[in-house]
Amino acid sequence: MGSFMESGLGGQSGPIEEIILDPITGKKIIKKGTISFPPRKVFFKTFGCQMNYHDTERMLFHLKSLNFTQTEEKENADLILFNTCAIRDLANTKFYSNLGEVKKLKAKDQKVVVGVGGCVAQTEGKELIKKYKHLDFAFGTDVIDSINDLVYRAYAGESKFKMNAWDRSENFSIETKITHGSPQAFVNIIKGCNKYCSYCIVPYTRGKEKSRRLAEIVEDVRKLVRFQGIQEITLLGQNVNSFGKENGESLAQLIFELDKIEGLQLIRYTTSHPYDVTDELIYAHGIAKKLSNHLHLPVQSGSKTVLERMLREYTPEAFLGLCEKLRVSNPNIVLSTDIIVGFPNETEEEFQCTLDLLNKAQFDFIYSYAFSPRPGTKAALIEDTLSDSERNLRLRKVQKHQLEIQSKIRSNLVGQTMRILVDGNNTMKGVLTWKGRTNCNRIVHFHPETVDKNYQWHWVDVEITSSTALSCSGRIKKDYGKLPPK
Ligand code: SAM
Ligand code: SF4
Repeated sequence: MGSFMESGLGGQSGPIEEIILDPITGKKIIKKGTISFPPRKVFFKTFGCQMNYHDTERMLFHLKSLNFTQTEEKENADLILFNTCAIRDLANTKFYSNLGEVKKLKAKDQKVVVGVGGCVAQTEGKELIKKYKHLDFAFGTDVIDSINDLVYRAYAGESKFKMNAWDRSENFSIETKITHGSPQAFVNIIKGCNKYCSYCIVPYTRGKEKSRRLAEIVEDVRKLVRFQGIQEITLLGQNVNSFGKENGESLAQLIFELDKIEGLQLIRYTTSHPYDVTDELIYAHGIAKKLSNHLHLPVQSGSKTVLERMLREYTPEAFLGLCEKLRVSNPNIVLSTDIIVGFPNETEEEFQCTLDLLNKAQFDFIYSYAFSPRPGTKAALIEDTLSDSERNLRLRKVQKHQLEIQSKIRSNLVGQTMRILVDGNNTMKGVLTWKGRTNCNRIVHFHPETVDKNYQWHWVDVEITSSTALSCSGRIKKDYGKLPPK
């Protein structure tokens, strides 16, 4: 006799499950309606931002209730799922080449099920299904929590189907699902984006902004801390500081409530649009004790005219003014940014303005990209005189320029002691080093006291003895174990 339980289809209805044991292998088989789910392996290939990695983790969580475990080898997988990114052409190209490789696996074993989800599938799901014979289904960004329904349909014999409808419900209500054993968790607080920057595909692939309710998030985080040992959260969204607008709530209010949760150590959030950085949020950076001393604030360009063409709704002066206000509110704050070089028809003078802004803003690190035209966006329609080689040259220049700034910033850290949460190790030329991030998101490496000592997820103090443009290294001064001192 098997035991019965409610469907695990991510909170949706579905056939009732029955769990039985295979009489020969003794392994668990999940029966849903007439379909049996023996233990199977799923391989994920994720492209793009933290949002996509977070969505992948949600899918893995749901699929566990259909008896799937994750494999890192696609050759061993029964189910192959792509979570795609459309933000730049490079991610697109990589996805298509990966999809091509999977064709060979499917030719060897017709039983392998292949699905494509995420941003590319949202806008091109129908075409993908039509064009790629080895693709079983495609699904958009708003149906992540329906992954079990889709996989059920595939194992029920349906093929070549897509689901990329938008979630039309008024509320955005979810519970954070984690599968890892780390003390760090991403917590999605808002989806979509209403900004329509002229170069960006996100509003078309992720839809309109919709926030979760503040009270729901606070309860969610409380549970993560209490029952899953979470100490550090990153509030996630394409534009988190738009959070709560439609409900009369704000990111600052949320931070103040989360700040009260006992056991929570650190609150981060990403990504922000400068236009939505309110005085209340700036104040929170000075007051909220658990809020990270780091803010990623994408500026995109240092040129007033390029920012106008990008439809960013601020000037370089206004952006620098914001940086200043944040630094007054919290003198320890560290800022980072995103830069796009080679926006259509960007002149040499406009490009120079970006280098000037980097000098003035003194970012701790930057992500920099060459403009990539995205079909359907306004900027893709602009007739452009700039060549790709000029764009790439500017990208190299901006990166070199910023690395010099960072080298100086980091060399000033030598001699200071920093507390980090250790998140991994690596061995280079036979030498083992551990690494972690400071509250202000700086990477710090250190040598272990003894080679066999395991520091994973320990809080440690490290005295910085040397630095490069990208990280610091030092000697361990104190190991607090898995909880930092009060
Ligand atoms: N919401 C954030 C903001 O307002 O800045 C950005 C999110 S977007 C997923 C991440 C970054 O990708 C952007 O900040 C931008 O620098 C870059 N990006 C977006 N579209 C791009 C394009 N068409 N070409 C090059 N880079 C792009
Ligand atoms: Fe894209 Fe960010 Fe602009 Fe939204 S705010 S359109 S996600 S760059």
